[in-house]
Amino acid sequence: MAKETLSINETRDMMLAVADKIIESEPILSEADRALGDGDHGVGMERGMNAVKEALEGEDFACVGKVFMGVGMAMMSSMGGASGAVFGMLFRGGGKAIKGSETLGAAEVASFFKAGTDEVMTKGGAKAGDKTMVDALLPCAEGAAAAQGNVSEALAGAAAGAEAGKEASKAMIATMGRAKTLGEKSIGLPDAGAVSVSIIAATMRDFAA
Ligand SMILES: [Mg+2]
Repeated sequence: MAKETLSINETRDMMLAVADKIIESEPILSEADRALGDGDHGVGMERGMNAVKEALEGEDFACVGKVFMGVGMAMMSSMGGASGAVFGMLFRGGGKAIKGSETLGAAEVASFFKAGTDEVMTKGGAKAGDKTMVDALLPCAEGAAAAQGNVSEALAGAAAGAEAGKEASKAMIATMGRAKTLGEKSIGLPDAGAVSVSIIAATMRDFAA
């Protein structure tokens, strides 16, 4: 049943579900990065999500923003590498934008993805079409913003955008990130970071559906 909003504890449990799903997806993410990069993305994300579980399980948070900030800080401090930095920025920057909110509604979902994407683009430097996680994040943030109504609809919009962006990244020639030295050889496969974004957004959607 569709939900109007998620509570702080539900938001925490949603992110624990995301952590489990990413850990389970390690082989898919490793394979995606092996195809276009150095292959470390799956294991890095798995390590980050184990740290997220440690930081979130049984914890009470003051607001929904701090749940996401906790996710970001756990990823930053445990993963290392470019993925740790950029996924950390996504969650920390997005969480900061909704600090103080006691519920996660459609407006908070939109603010979270917008601010998180801005943070990744500003500090990470990738722009649309570079074939990086940004190509999943931008349509994800747009999908969340376009979905009016409740948290279930906003997360469904975010997930649809992320999936479409991940698929669109297949046709792109990498000009930044893991596959930039491959040039045209990067055509046909999705960016591993974009795959992670699509799995994260889909798991959030399913939790709130
Ligand atoms: Mg890599």
